[in-house]
Amino acid sequence: MNPPLPAEVRAAKLWRPKQVLITPSAASWDHGREIAERCASLGIDVRTLPSDRLSLAFPDDERQAYAAAKQTLAIVVAPPSKRRLQPIAPSADWRVDLAEGCPAHCSYCYLAGSLKGPPITRAYANLPEIIDELPRHLGQGTITSRSAARVHEGTTFEASCYTDPLALEHLTGSLSALIAWFGAWQADAQLRFTSKFDAVAPLLQLEHGGRTRMRASLNPAAFARFEGGTSPVAARIAALGRMAQAGYPIGLTIAPIIAAPGWERAYGGLIGQVAELLAAIPQLDLTVELITHRYSPGSKATLESWYPGSDLDMGLGNRTEKRTKFGSVKFVYDATTMRALRTFFETEIGRLLPMARILYWT
Ligand code: SF4
Repeated sequence: MNPPLPAEVRAAKLWRPKQVLITPSAASWDHGREIAERCASLGIDVRTLPSDRLSLAFPDDERQAYAAAKQTLAIVVAPPSKRRLQPIAPSADWRVDLAEGCPAHCSYCYLAGSLKGPPITRAYANLPEIIDELPRHLGQGTITSRSAARVHEGTTFEASCYTDPLALEHLTGSLSALIAWFGAWQADAQLRFTSKFDAVAPLLQLEHGGRTRMRASLNPAAFARFEGGTSPVAARIAALGRMAQAGYPIGLTIAPIIAAPGWERAYGGLIGQVAELLAAIPQLDLTVELITHRYSPGSKATLESWYPGSDLDMGLGNRTEKRTKFGSVKFVYDATTMRALRTFFETEIGRLLPMARILYWT
């Protein structure tokens, strides 16, 4: 039986875009038309564009353009360049994208540094072509497949790199289709996704074959002001519990870890809350991924224009510059802060969630 939900988490809102646009090419795919029909059946205005170009007229004012873009869903065809799978360390061997963009408003959003232009959400219509890429990558992974601690996961595929797939699932059905496909794929492979949303109902009855791991992306309720438009954290944990009861392996993505005043108490409370909610679930297959807050000069500038009122600290006070292997710069917490955070998380997780396997710290 599912654990009862606290009253305040029963009515988590599903995203309802103000406008849905579909390109002619996307409309030639069954999956694209199905997404459009789902949206129309919810009473959302769906417009077919005259061409495949998304030349949208957004207001000149940056804030208004941001707001309009965040309320727009475009159903498009993923071009070959977007379907080409890339390694995605440290999470998975390969990245597979069902969509690009997300309707939420997190003041640290990692997409700010990677997506160009107004942040509209694009859902991909050519799901069969996206899935067609997967089989030839089986056994070809170089990330988790080369890790002694994770090789047993098989070839891993991460679906949350450029979107939060659960945020869109009630409109697209793409995640369910992919989970069912992995469920039927008799291969040593695993699909992974992480989410700051809780709308797991469509996933619970799927024949997933244990080949999909859902992780809840969590921060303490005390930091909810940094995660606008997402599901309440208690609802995300409860949703994860339901997924575990439906036989899915599960995990926590504690991300991004923010060393704001009071962080020890806040994160200690979060880990305790997870332990309490998952305590009743037998044979829990639980992993933890720990990702500290970081930003690049570019993502900082974008985020400051999107969220000028945010009190998320992106100053240089306790930061150090890190150069990635591609030569770009990121600001991460300095060694003293990192050490304090890491020691705290490893100790508390060991104490309160002894069954959990920590996959990585970054
Ligand atoms: Fe960005 Fe994730 Fe927040 Fe969506 S839920 S805005 S993808 S950080």
